[in-house]
Amino acid sequence: MKAAKYMGKEKLSIVDIPKPAPKEKEVLIKVKHTGICGTDLEAYKTGLYPVPVVMGHEILGVVEEIGENVKKCKIGDRVTYNGSISCGQCPSCLRGDYNICYDEFRELGIYKDGGFAEYVAIPTECLVAVPDSIPDKHGTIFEQLATGLQSIRVAGVNMGDTAVIIGLGTIGQFILQGLKLAGVKKLIVIDKNPNRLEIAKKFNPDVALKKIAIGKIKGATNRRGADYVFECTGRPAVINASSSLIRKGGSLIQVGISDTPFNFNFLPFIMSQNRIQGIYAWHPRDFEFAIDLIARKMIDPDPIVTNIISIDDIVEKGFKEAIKPDTKEIKILVDPYK
Ligand SMILES: [Zn+2]
Ligand SMILES: [Zn+2]
Repeated sequence: MKAAKYMGKEKLSIVDIPKPAPKEKEVLIKVKHTGICGTDLEAYKTGLYPVPVVMGHEILGVVEEIGENVKKCKIGDRVTYNGSISCGQCPSCLRGDYNICYDEFRELGIYKDGGFAEYVAIPTECLVAVPDSIPDKHGTIFEQLATGLQSIRVAGVNMGDTAVIIGLGTIGQFILQGLKLAGVKKLIVIDKNPNRLEIAKKFNPDVALKKIAIGKIKGATNRRGADYVFECTGRPAVINASSSLIRKGGSLIQVGISDTPFNFNFLPFIMSQNRIQGIYAWHPRDFEFAIDLIARKMIDPDPIVTNIISIDDIVEKGFKEAIKPDTKEIKILVDPYK
C-alpha cells in the first residue's frame, strides 16, 4: 500500500509498504482522510518525532478488518481516532485529568505507523464512531476543536467576558467559534496572514487585526485589556507582547507550543496578579462535545478545511505549503485514494 513515511527533518517519502494486519483488540481501517496536524508540521521543520514512522493521527476511515477479541466495532463502521487515551490509574487520571496522564497512550503517527497511508491498524480503545450527519471532510477535525474547547473550559470563560485570540490556525479558528458560543462580549482576533483573517471574519469577531495593536485592543476593552488572551502561535516575541493585552487579574491561556527556552518578563504578571494557563491536548469529554457540536452544526469546520490532496502531493501541496507564512491553507487533508 502507498504511505508517506517520515524520515526526519524535512524528509517525508512516499513508500510502498505492506498493508498492516490488525493484532488482538485492533482493527484495520481503510483511510478516507487524514489531516496534517500543526504538530506534524513542527516535526517536519525540526525533526521532533522518532524515525522512521508513517505520520498522521487525525484519521477518518471505515473498519475493513477486525483482529481477535474486538467487540467495540464491526466491519463497515465509520470511525475516527481519539489519541488522548489515558491509563486510568495514575494520580492525574484518578483526579479525572485524563489529558495529563503520566502514561498517556498517544502514539499513532508518532511512535507507531499512522494515517498518511491507504490503511492503518488502530487499537479499538482509540476508536470513536462518527455520526452519519457529519460529512467525511469534517470527520478528522475533532481533536483540534476539542483542544479549543478545553482551552475555553479550563480558562473559565463566562458570558460577557472579553478575549483576544492571537494566531488563527485551526485551533485559533475553533477557539473563535467556541468563544462566540460561550457568549463573550468583545472578541479581538489577530493574525498576520490575511487569508486566515478573512476566514475568521466569517465568524464575526468584533475586531480583526493584522498585528498586535495595543491601542486598538485597549480601546475595545475599556482601556484596561482583555480578560483572556488565547496565545496560539507559540512564538516567543508574541507571547511576550501578549502580556500587555491582559487586564489586571486576567489570564494568558497558552495554547501555542514553543520548545525553545526564551526570556519572559514576569514582573508585570506578578504586579498585575495575572495567571498563565498551559493547555495540553483535550479531555475525553471535550472530544465527545466536539463531535456533538459539529453534528448539530453549532460549529462549522467547512471554511477551516481548505484543501484535500493526494498522498503524492503531501510534500509540495501539503507540508511545504502549510509552513509558508502567507499560505492560503489552514487545515489540509490527505486522501490516500485521490
Ligand atoms: Zn493533531
Ligand atoms: Zn493516567
